[in-house]
Amino acid sequence: MSTLLADVHGCHECDATVYGFERAPDREGYLKFPATIGAVGPATLLFVGINPYRTVRNELLYEEAMASLDAFGTLAGNREPHPGSTSTPYIRRHIPGERRRYGREPFYDQYMEVIKGVWEEDTAFEEHAVATELYLCSTVGIGNRAFVSASLCAARFFARTFAQVLPKAVITVGARRRV
Ligand SMILES: [Zn+2]
Repeated sequence: MSTLLADVHGCHECDATVYGFERAPDREGYLKFPATIGAVGPATLLFVGINPYRTVRNELLYEEAMASLDAFGTLAGNREPHPGSTSTPYIRRHIPGERRRYGREPFYDQYMEVIKGVWEEDTAFEEHAVATELYLCSTVGIGNRAFVSASLCAARFFARTFAQVLPKAVITVGARRRV
């Protein structure tokens, strides 16, 4: 098991008073994403987002991912950590009009567009790519936090993430909130 995975899972070093990060139920670590979702080792593409956010629609995903290191690893391997659907890819191509449900995340449609453009229509995300975030710790809602200071998640884990993925190209996604 990757120590990067375990180190991220247990991490609660970020400043919760500034950003409102919350611990997972019965866990030390904050509700967050693994440093890598997709390929388990090196990959051609590394997508870098800013921060995963929780809503009533996806909060169960975070709780189940944080419930154990195994579940966290399931999500890192791009599978839903939900008991009973652990064979369903998390970052995946969606059917037009697909109902919003656990793990259905329209944000990743743009990632899959890139995968489709570079490879084939049915290429799986984890075949060639990894998704990470500058802040792995999640916040509630979209854009309700101004990330103006340096990310401790990135300071602790981004170099290790990059060294694991060894991407040929990095694609950054998102923008800081304008004030
Ligand atoms: Zn953090």
